[in-house]
Amino acid sequence: MFVLSSPSGAGKTTLSHSLLDKEQNLTLSISMTTRPQRPKEVDGQDYIFLNKDEFLAKQKRGEFLEWAEVFDHYYGTPRHFVEDALNSGKDILFDIDWQGCAQLRKILSNDLVSIFILPPSAATLEQRLRSRGQDTEETVIKRMQGAKSEMQHWEAYDYIIINDDLNKSLIQLQAILNAERLKRTRCYGLTSFVNTLLQDLS
Ligand code: 5GP
Repeated sequence: MFVLSSPSGAGKTTLSHSLLDKEQNLTLSISMTTRPQRPKEVDGQDYIFLNKDEFLAKQKRGEFLEWAEVFDHYYGTPRHFVEDALNSGKDILFDIDWQGCAQLRKILSNDLVSIFILPPSAATLEQRLRSRGQDTEETVIKRMQGAKSEMQHWEAYDYIIINDDLNKSLIQLQAILNAERLKRTRCYGLTSFVNTLLQDLS
C-alpha cells in the first residue's frame, strides 16, 4: 500500500497519474466522496461521487477501510476494492490525506509505505491552486489554510519529496517503490528459494 499525501496543489494527482502510467503492477484506490464533481473529473475513475446520506450509510455498514472529513466533505476508501487488489497481488496507490494515512498505518502498518509531497514554496502552491481554475476564490483560500494544517503532519511519513520538478519527483517515487518492493520481508517465497540454493550447494 503506497500512500501519497500532500496539501492540495503540490502536484500529487499529476504525479500519481504519471506513476500509474509507468508501473504495471500498481493500481489506484478510487475513493468515494461527497464533494461536488469538478468539470474534468470522471465518476468512477477519479472518484465515486455520492451524497452524504449514501456515504454515511456505507460508513455505518463498515464499508470503508478508512474515511475522513476534508474541507467540509467526506472522503473514504472502499474496503472491498483494496482487499481484492491486495489478494490478487497488486500494489495499491492511495491519494489520501494524513488522517486516512494514520488510519491505514494503525491497521496495516507492515504493508504501508507513506510519502508526503511538499511544494517547493508557498508562492508556487498558491499559484498552482489558482491556475487549476477549478475552485471558487473561497475554496482556494480554504485550501491554502488547509495546506498549512496538512503540512504539519509531514513527519509522520516514511519519505518526503519536494516537488519542484515533475520528472525528478517521478524518478524519486519510482526509486522508493522499487526499493520497497525489494525489501526482504516483501519478497514472498524467498525462504524456499534460499533453502533450495543452500541445498544445491551442499
Ligand atoms: P480533492 O477534493 O482535492 O480531490 O481532495 C482533497 C483531499 O482529500 C486530498 O488531500 C486527498 O488526498 C484527500 N482524499 C481523497 N480521497 C480520500 C480518501 O478516500 N480518504 C482520505 N482520508 N482522504 C482522501
